[in-house]
Amino acid sequence: MEQQVDYIIVGQGICGTFLSYYLDKPGKKILVIDANQPHTSTKVASGVINPVTGRRIVRTWMIEEVMPFAVEAYTQLGRETDKQLVRQCNILDFHPTAQMQLAFDERLPTEDYLRIPESADYWRTYFNYPFAIGETNPCWLIDLHSLLDGWCNRLRERNCLLEQQFDHKQLVLEKSKVRYQNITAEKIFFCDGAGGATNPFFHLLPFALNKGEAILAKIPGLPNSNIFKQGLSIVPWKDDRFWIGSTYEWNFADANPSEGFRTKVETQLRQWLKLPFEIVDHWASVRPANIERRPFVGLHPVHHTIGILNGMGTKGCSLAPFFAYQLSHHIIHGSPIHPNADVKRFSGILSK
Ligand SMILES: Cc1cc2nc3c(=O)[nH]c(=O)nc-3n(C[C@H](O)[C@H](O)[C@H](O)COP(=O)(O)OP(=O)(O)OC[C@H]3O[C@@H](n4cnc5c(N)ncnc54)[C@H](O)[C@@H]3O)c2cc1C
Repeated sequence: MEQQVDYIIVGQGICGTFLSYYLDKPGKKILVIDANQPHTSTKVASGVINPVTGRRIVRTWMIEEVMPFAVEAYTQLGRETDKQLVRQCNILDFHPTAQMQLAFDERLPTEDYLRIPESADYWRTYFNYPFAIGETNPCWLIDLHSLLDGWCNRLRERNCLLEQQFDHKQLVLEKSKVRYQNITAEKIFFCDGAGGATNPFFHLLPFALNKGEAILAKIPGLPNSNIFKQGLSIVPWKDDRFWIGSTYEWNFADANPSEGFRTKVETQLRQWLKLPFEIVDHWASVRPANIERRPFVGLHPVHHTIGILNGMGTKGCSLAPFFAYQLSHHIIHGSPIHPNADVKRFSGILSK
């Protein structure tokens, strides 16, 4: 049977979820195609929005705009899917060296997001630490699995989801529409995460894929009020479970969990944590990162019926809602996309 929609969206990670949400909101007819792979970047991520980054503790790009936007977007989508998707969960940074403590202390007077926690000694019940603790405030924790499940259920109920692998060879580009199998659409958007690096329309973009691993451990008795960081982060998950990660590997032979990472986590937890722990799972995935550390947003400069929302790297939780909204407005109202995010900046490469 022939099917006609306004937009096809390939991928239901964080990017495809928000893009389909913002296109659906004003009444556009959407169809999402997702292969429901088990270890995508969004499914393996911890879901933290941290306004500062790096050894020099600098503000992340556009954080003053994207962080409040994201918090509101998760709150709103959570309300519509009956899930609590976001809560404030500040990072407690257990400085691992005297130099790191000094770097924090030097930034403290001029960076509003940094604080000295009131009850620093309280944490001695749970952790061993030779130096002080710094706090980043506010940080936010997103329940990414509830986000994906909630929106997936909504799409299923309305017959807007095809749970299958998208086959690029079956995509036919016509003058002002696209056809895929028995479906025609005005445009198609690729939100295919790391799959973008082999996507025939976008593989020339400067993707620099990055592998990350995470352990899920039961730590009975550890408060879930904060994210605890000492090189590794311990992030509250569900009940007495905590997400522990991560690695940032630019060169990797495969995307599988490694014995080396598990051993590293076990060794560090035995030194740092005073509570017993039990490892219950171990995941790995590939972040859709890129050389510029700026997202890929917009329409293909040659094929105007094809669009992209990708390249979120390590910052999908804060960037994806904001840029999904910008892209949806660009498509529907013609409003501009931030020039540092617009894929138009790669017109030369994409026209080859
Ligand atoms: C270990 C780890 C920790 C992280 N922690 C954080 C964090 O705390 N905060 C943060 O902001 N970011 C974090 N990230 C990064 C974050 O996960 C990404 O920025 C974000 O999830 C990327 O979302 P995406 O939708 O672009 O890609 P994905 O989540 O990979 O989604 C792509 C979707 O497309 C589907 N797909 C791909 N190709 C096809 C095809 N041909 N046919 C059908 N479906 C297809 C896949 O099944 C998938 O569902 C972390 C990443 C990792 C790996």
